[in-house]
Amino acid sequence: MNVTLIGAGPGDAELMTIKGMNRLKEADVVLYDRLVGEDIIAMIPDTVEKICVGKHTGKHPVPQEEIGSLMASKAKQGLHVVRLKGGDPFVFGRGGEELEILCENNIPFEVIPGISSSIAAGICAGIPLTHRDYSSSLHIITGHVKRNGQLDIDFKSLSGLKGTLVILMGIAALEHICTGFLEAGMNPQTPAAIVENATLKSQRKFIGTLETLFELSQRNQVVSPSVVIIGNVCTLSDKLGI
Ligand code: SAH
Repeated sequence: MNVTLIGAGPGDAELMTIKGMNRLKEADVVLYDRLVGEDIIAMIPDTVEKICVGKHTGKHPVPQEEIGSLMASKAKQGLHVVRLKGGDPFVFGRGGEELEILCENNIPFEVIPGISSSIAAGICAGIPLTHRDYSSSLHIITGHVKRNGQLDIDFKSLSGLKGTLVILMGIAALEHICTGFLEAGMNPQTPAAIVENATLKSQRKFIGTLETLFELSQRNQVVSPSVVIIGNVCTLSDKLGI
């Protein structure tokens, strides 16, 4: 394969797959994101070209089309390109878009799944995402605000499902997200949680309710990357969490 798209998992290097690790060792050039664990980056030999295409303090990320064409041009030079992404490449990872560019350029590729933070965060906080007594469905939602300033969340429908809601990229707009669910009629006492830096040594978790979650995040100065979990399963955190 000329290009291997690899999910690096949620941060802890031991949570990356063996297959992903093996392919990483075969790379000539690695393009990686900000969310890829530092320990994983440190494992890449010095002889391999490493290109960070993620956002860094005060700087903008490399635009998506540029990442695609960079991958395509390196692959056309006969290099084995590894594209390393945090979590799973197809869960809000824009992996599909990058593969479309490779398709247009007739470049063969392989995709290796990773453990998504949307799954790992609950586990780290002692929150089973489904449980026969509490929740029979799981919904992974983006809390990213669109260019027009709007959230793309169907609050009404999601509130009615009574499943576990897992929100990625939700910290910046947390107040609007919580208000959206409250206005849609969700019980203010619905248990809710935030897991910051899941699987890393710096991990923190906060358990509250839909009504208190935003204030809790402000008081504790919660930062990205964090996963927000809303649903009755969050009550199990004290019992099952560490
Ligand atoms: N493809 C990734 C998600 C990319 S979107 C995946 O499957 O995990 C980026 C969002 O993922 C962040 O804003 C945050 O909500 C979440 N995230 C990624 N890594 C995280 C981590 N270690 N702890 C908490 N949230 C994380």
